[in-house]
Amino acid sequence: MIMLFDTHTHVNDDKLYEDRKEVISRALQNSVKVILNTGDNFASLERIKKLTEEFPGICYSVFGIHPSFCKEYDAKKLSTYISENINSVLAVGEIGLDYFYEVSEEEKILQKEVFISEIMLAKRYQLPIVVHSRSADEDTFVILNEYAKNMKVDLHCFSGSVEMAERYIKNIPNIMFGIGGVLTFNNAKRLVDVVKKVPLKHLLLETDAPYLSPSPYRGKINEPKSIKIIAEKLSEILGLEFSEIEKATTLNARRFFNL
Ligand SMILES: [Zn+2]
Repeated sequence: MIMLFDTHTHVNDDKLYEDRKEVISRALQNSVKVILNTGDNFASLERIKKLTEEFPGICYSVFGIHPSFCKEYDAKKLSTYISENINSVLAVGEIGLDYFYEVSEEEKILQKEVFISEIMLAKRYQLPIVVHSRSADEDTFVILNEYAKNMKVDLHCFSGSVEMAERYIKNIPNIMFGIGGVLTFNNAKRLVDVVKKVPLKHLLLETDAPYLSPSPYRGKINEPKSIKIIAEKLSEILGLEFSEIEKATTLNARRFFNL
């Protein structure tokens, strides 16, 4: 039986939530048997919790506050969410830094404080972290290297260079790189180089749905079922059988998320 994991997605998003039954059923038809819905603000955690209850054994929760919502961060509140759902929360995420849009120096400082606080929370619950880093490569590396050296770290939607990936592997042994629809884009040369150079044991598959639909559906609403297309692309790039990609990435996900 083919089994694929979507290690980072947002079925809780308005674009997918209404049709969640169909979205989940299309995922299952495409061999995507495990779906990790990832938090960005406190409202999202409520829906993620509901999805986990509604689709037991398929949907799991990743709870955290995204840097774009750093102003609503409340360590105590997040800690309560995690402890009350500890059996279905597999990681803390997505947490990190996002300097893509105009961000003041003041907000950068706040983002960093929140990021560090969420890393500490993950440590306390012995959970892996799922990291979002956009236009903030160096600051993200510095914080992870200082605070998360011995943790399991998933750099979701990795967009860095081969050199950056190698630097991470050298410094944070349990680092994983989240690979998604970008791999199928025409201009994905940098990511193609990364998956060729980085050992397969460091790769996780993710859709980041409803965003980042793989080619030829680029720009359309994405769904967890797209993992199959991403896995096919990876098998084509690496010249490996689809079943090898499936086995390796599923094992990686199970090991990383303790599932
Ligand atoms: Zn995401």
